[in-house]
Amino acid sequence: MSWIERRKTRTVWVGSVPIGSSHPVVVQSMTNTFTEDVDTTVAQIKELERVGCEVVRVAVPSVKAAEALPEIKRRISIPLIADVHFDHKLALLAIENGADCVRINPGNIGEWWKVKEIAKLAAERGISIRVGVNSGSIPKEVLRRYGAPTPEALAETALDYAKRFEDIGFTNLKFSLKGSEVKTTVIANKLFAKKTDYPIHIGITEAGTFISGAVKSAVGMGILLYEGIGDTVRVSLSTHPKEEVKIAYKILSALELRKRGVEVISCPTCGRCLVDVETLAEEVERRLEHIEVPLKIAVMGCAVNGPGEASFADVGIAGAGDYFILFVKGKVIDKLSQEEALERLVKEAERVAEERKAQEDGLYRGAETSP
Ligand code: SF4
Repeated sequence: MSWIERRKTRTVWVGSVPIGSSHPVVVQSMTNTFTEDVDTTVAQIKELERVGCEVVRVAVPSVKAAEALPEIKRRISIPLIADVHFDHKLALLAIENGADCVRINPGNIGEWWKVKEIAKLAAERGISIRVGVNSGSIPKEVLRRYGAPTPEALAETALDYAKRFEDIGFTNLKFSLKGSEVKTTVIANKLFAKKTDYPIHIGITEAGTFISGAVKSAVGMGILLYEGIGDTVRVSLSTHPKEEVKIAYKILSALELRKRGVEVISCPTCGRCLVDVETLAEEVERRLEHIEVPLKIAVMGCAVNGPGEASFADVGIAGAGDYFILFVKGKVIDKLSQEEALERLVKEAERVAEERKAQEDGLYRGAETSP
């Protein structure tokens, strides 16, 4: 039983992935390649899949990009969302070309009949629409009334779109309300969440470079998730999108909403430290990013306190002068030279991960066959 009570929502599907409160919070990201460059886009999506991205969004700013969708879809394993701005014909083409969902911002699509056409085709193809509302696309009349893109203006705009979609009988929707500040995003989402049961995609838009973006996202998304709001997440960073996925899992893991992959616990170091903890910890994280089952790996600066401080880790190493000790669940099992420490730790972690995966698969099969 989670310590967080998620807001109850309906379920909306993006391809084979369900999104809503009866399902785990879904991690998504967006490619930063030219979509029409299929090889490069597919390669990046594969990298994202490898670190746990469950749904991917690609920009569709041109006919060429929309025409690339079928081939991209054919070569990837996760659902594909087409991100379309301004031109409703591109959204229609993206749907015809097999997008599992389209992300539109009705504020920049233009007249409502164009949005209606998108909804009509989405309904025919049985796909969902993500309605995005952000500070830059609030209708003029709403903006005039509020005087600025306030959280209230964002929430009112999103609620108005929900009503207009409902009036035309389309409810296969999820929403996102994003500002580049934590405060605007948090308040807007809370206001919207109170009044609907649509799943919400959360994130801080244009969050920034690696460190500031990660912190801003963790704070903003952390507040919302703690309040039970957020059914799918995207961390937006000005860096490789793979980092977005990794940070999203770290945020979800810190809140105990999702557990995936390796969590490296490394000590902050102190005057007893005998090894380069920072470089080692980064290398361990990089080498083990393919592991899917939750695993805690410790990299500790000294053997005096290291294994004790990290006794909850599944596997760990601690510096001990010119050698390392290898420990499993706090128990020392070997003594390693500087040269062999990293390789042996990686091997041991992979072994434990395989065992855990086999156990999980066994449990799953057992559950499937039990009466
Ligand atoms: S593990 Fe050792 S080096 Fe690292 S902080 Fe603790 S006492 Fe210091």
